[in-house]
Amino acid sequence: MIDFSLSGRRALVTGANTGIGQAIAVALAAAGADVALAGRSEPAETLRLIADAGGKAVNIAADLSSIEPVERVVAETVEGLGGIDILVNNAGIIRRNDLADFTEEDWDAVVDTNLKSLFFLSQAAARHMVAQRRGKIVNIASLLSFQGGIRVPSYAAAKSGVAGVTRAMANELAPSGVQVNAIAPGYIATNNTAALQADETRNRQILERIPTGRWGRPEDIAGAAVFLASPASDYLTGQIIAVDGGWMAR
Ligand code: NDP
Repeated sequence: MIDFSLSGRRALVTGANTGIGQAIAVALAAAGADVALAGRSEPAETLRLIADAGGKAVNIAADLSSIEPVERVVAETVEGLGGIDILVNNAGIIRRNDLADFTEEDWDAVVDTNLKSLFFLSQAAARHMVAQRRGKIVNIASLLSFQGGIRVPSYAAAKSGVAGVTRAMANELAPSGVQVNAIAPGYIATNNTAALQADETRNRQILERIPTGRWGRPEDIAGAAVFLASPASDYLTGQIIAVDGGWMAR
């Protein structure tokens, strides 16, 4: 029987106070998982949404711009939920600048948050998953895992790296019963893209280019995340799945 249930599963989601991470955390909880939320800002609204739906969630304060907190974040997840079966690496930032003006700080901030922390958090979680011979890692990549974008070189580098490290981890962890996949969201209406949505010309160009004819919603990404976290996807690993309203198909 195909099993989409997450009942009894323990999930860690990074950057879940808002946007895509919030939608994923709420959807995992609705599918039956207990959820740990790790991030910089207090995820008060996410905690409330999960509690209102009768789910269990714990908050772990952590700034993932460095790898310093990653072991603690996984240890607190295991302590708070009794283990870890699912890791969703969602926390991310973007910096826009012309090539000539791009600074080392613009590079390091984006690569460290979006890629380095993702890898070392996965490493720490994988120790538990390998020991129990069961686990799901879901990385949030981007269309810029495949394309160069405009004025975002460190983001394109980091998200391409997310695709590469997803495949590398998937290969190594598959024999241990752990699947590693990534979702590449298209244009999703969140704080991250507020400036693009507000720019009338850019907004029109984006909408004309999306076959589905609308911006994505965070919930569109959450549906794919629940599938990739569930037993229904046990034979799927090392894939970067674009959830983009058809953008990549064009
Ligand atoms: P948001 O800005 O709404 O969410 C980003 C999340 O990451 C926030 O919770 C933020 O927390 C957290 N975060 C950022 N830096 C850190 C840090 N140093 N330590 C801990 N948490 C941190 O944007 P989205 O929901 O749009 O983005 C979520 C993911 O989706 C990102 O990886 C992004 O790159 C990716 N993505 C988004 C797309 C879109 O169109 N929206 C398209 C493709 C990919 P805080 O509030 O504290 O900053």
